[in-house]
Amino acid sequence: MKPLIVITGASSGFGKEMALQFSAAGHPILLLARRIEPMIDLNLPNTLVKAVDVTDFNAFAAAVAEAEKKYGKVDCLINNAGVMLLGNIWQQDITEWQTMLDVNVKAVLNGTKIVLSDMMTRNEGTIINVSSIAGKKTFGNHAAYCATKYGVHALTETVREEVSSYNVRIMLVAPGAAETELLGHTTDENIKDGYNQWKETMGGTSLNPVHVATSVKFMYEMPQSVNIRELVIAATKQD
Ligand code: NDP
Repeated sequence: MKPLIVITGASSGFGKEMALQFSAAGHPILLLARRIEPMIDLNLPNTLVKAVDVTDFNAFAAAVAEAEKKYGKVDCLINNAGVMLLGNIWQQDITEWQTMLDVNVKAVLNGTKIVLSDMMTRNEGTIINVSSIAGKKTFGNHAAYCATKYGVHALTETVREEVSSYNVRIMLVAPGAAETELLGHTTDENIKDGYNQWKETMGGTSLNPVHVATSVKFMYEMPQSVNIRELVIAATKQD
């Protein structure tokens, strides 16, 4: 059997498509998100599905341990779960910043800590963090979100430097705007409308989950001796 892949945020969007593609390639998978039904409904073979809030270190670690008992050691963790709550910081409810910091940054640290020591001992393994072009350039109404995604870039490169000599890969994918549920959680309707108008400048060509999942699978399938440190993917028409 191929090695175990762990995918966070697998109940929708990019993570759900990654689950389909890695499963189709013959990997056993552990799927994590808070909503369990959409993951069960995928009905994939050799798959453990867990309703886990990835900001909860112990619950995340317990799910990984259970999957490793069934399928062997984690060969790849994809830290994909994320939240985007757009807003001006002088108007936005501060709980929205906390949610983004917890899911977009702390949960990535959680996952990394859970799998990394063992990968370093085995001298193999891959972690792929899903950041964003909002981790490379700024956008209006994105202050807190950009802060979290710039943070993902920083922590990814820092850990890469720390573990490269152990033959462990840590990679980052930075997608542009895509059609998923992500924008739907923003509470400010005017900001949502503005974002949708901006997307219309791409004439309906913004990314879809297949583009991102295909990129992530390509990164993983490079030999262990090759690290695609950062892959930026966006619609050709995105400015
Ligand atoms: P979706 O909203 O469709 O998916 C987000 C996923 O994250 C869901 O499965 C959600 O599951 C999960 N999630 C959120 N909070 C938690 C939590 N506390 N614990 C566990 N799982 C959680 O969005 P995308 O697929 O677009 O987003 C995936 C990643 O891609 C994110 O990191 C996002 O920032 C990034 N990205 C997205 C872009 C886009 O335009 N769509 C562009 C660039 C980057 P549940 O609610 O069931 O817990």
